[in-house]
Amino acid sequence: MKVILLGPPGAGKGTIAKALMQHDGSVQISTGDILRAAITAGTTLGKQVEAAMAAGNLVTDELIMDIMEQRLQEEDCQQGYLLDGFPRTIPQAEALKALLAKLGEKLDCVLELDIPRDVIIDRLTTRRTCNNCGEIYNVKSKPPRVEDVCDVCGSEIMQRDDETEEAIENRLQIYNQQTAPLVDFYRNDGLLVSVPSSDIEPVMQAIRQRI
Ligand code: ADP
Ligand code: ZN
Repeated sequence: MKVILLGPPGAGKGTIAKALMQHDGSVQISTGDILRAAITAGTTLGKQVEAAMAAGNLVTDELIMDIMEQRLQEEDCQQGYLLDGFPRTIPQAEALKALLAKLGEKLDCVLELDIPRDVIIDRLTTRRTCNNCGEIYNVKSKPPRVEDVCDVCGSEIMQRDDETEEAIENRLQIYNQQTAPLVDFYRNDGLLVSVPSSDIEPVMQAIRQRI
């Protein structure tokens, strides 16, 4: 299946994507993970985006589209993909539409995870991420077995630079201004499925009904 996961930071896009991935072999494509990996590897791309990301600002549409135009044509995407964190602006959504038309592909749906703001803030401030494999933990609801050590790969888990209170505020504001308009965009295209939860089961149900 080809699905976009839409929702504010902390809505659970990554968790849902991983669950759906096990379901039918679609790949999760997280632009945030791609960018963080580039920063860790110290590539040119990483150096270009580091400052914007640490502040919680978006990187440019051009950079994102360069990455995604290539990524969506790789072999593992043929089975389907779950887009997590992309598109995030109207220009990205327009560019994606043009790209899919060019490739002769169609989205199955756009899943909107609709979560109250206080839940999001609580989740983001307690979230921890493995800086090696990207596994996500939560100090309250999903701590690692050994404090600060990733269960999956044994690396250190940390709070992301963009998960300070100031950067979180900024990310939520940017979401409301730049990403929230995509809800209407995809509703107009007849692709929107809104789920007022980020729990796995209701989301799976919405997907099953749709596909
Ligand atoms: P979250 O969904 O929790 O905000 P992500 O991992 O999706 O986090 O994104 C982290 C950061 O990566 C964003 O704040 C932004 O700087 C950058 N980023 C990721 N995807 C995009 C995108 N599609 N367009 C612009 N910037 C992006
Ligand atoms: Zn790890």
